[in-house]
Amino acid sequence: MKTSSLIADMESIDETLNAINGNKKTFEKDPRQFRPNLKNEKKEYRATVRFLSQGIQQVAKKAYFIERWDHAFIENGQWYIERCPSLINKQLGVKDHKCPACISNRRDYNSKQEVLVQRAHDRKIKKTYVTNILVIDDPQFPENNGKIMYWNMPYEIVKLIEIKWHPESKKRSPSNPYCPIKGYALDLVLKINPSTGYATYAGSEWLEPEPIYENEEEIVKLLNSTIDLDEFLSEPDKFKSFDELNNRFLKVTSGGVIIDSPMNTIIVDDKPTTALDKVTSSITTSALAADVPDKPVEGGEVSTEDDSWLED
Ligand SMILES: [Zn+2]
Repeated sequence: MKTSSLIADMESIDETLNAINGNKKTFEKDPRQFRPNLKNEKKEYRATVRFLSQGIQQVAKKAYFIERWDHAFIENGQWYIERCPSLINKQLGVKDHKCPACISNRRDYNSKQEVLVQRAHDRKIKKTYVTNILVIDDPQFPENNGKIMYWNMPYEIVKLIEIKWHPESKKRSPSNPYCPIKGYALDLVLKINPSTGYATYAGSEWLEPEPIYENEEEIVKLLNSTIDLDEFLSEPDKFKSFDELNNRFLKVTSGGVIIDSPMNTIIVDDKPTTALDKVTSSITTSALAADVPDKPVEGGEVSTEDDSWLED
């Protein structure tokens, strides 16, 4: 049959749907970000990546990766996706950076009511570590192959790197996966652990050490093209003010209806830490934390398990 010129394309209906859903906040994906996810038939993600330092380590002397804390949860059809200023407190040893989500989480947790504790858990801090990577092979998104990207890797991957620096066994010598000459790529596998129901990178494996390229000039060129991660540093001026965060928090958690009620008032207090607080805040990050979407994904996003969500 002859193709009719009247066949409507899918984009046109998308445009109409988007116009109707115009009030649903959509976020633009950062094309520089590597985002493993389980939104596929196999419910797994496989890729081979090589870790890259920011510039040439001997010259730039910059951190290999940068810690970031975010809250990312959806309530009443709206996302609260904001960086958590509690990280500044941790890094600078101060207490003056307040996070509405953390304050509310602390209050929910202290209530000891199951529903509120669960709510706090759903709104918890998601901790990731931003690193540069070279995508060697990404079968799901072949357009990423050969690209330098940044990845908000979970603590589980940091542990894999750390164990190379500080091997458990005395028979192994320390090595640095980031080394462009003696380092090695990671064959990563993200899938659900059936016994916990959480996504895990447990099946990931390091490949054999080898130079990124044979030609050192090419390596220098590659490292000089890495992403400057300074934009992810937890510097106070890079964070929104408490009022701005609080307005957004109240808007999302109230479904957009902010009424003047004590329930909607975030009380900033500096109560001395209780013994319970100490116990909960010393719980270590679970190695099961998977990649955290820092922007909404269309359903099926990775669940994470991370108990250290009461940092305020
Ligand atoms: Zn917070």
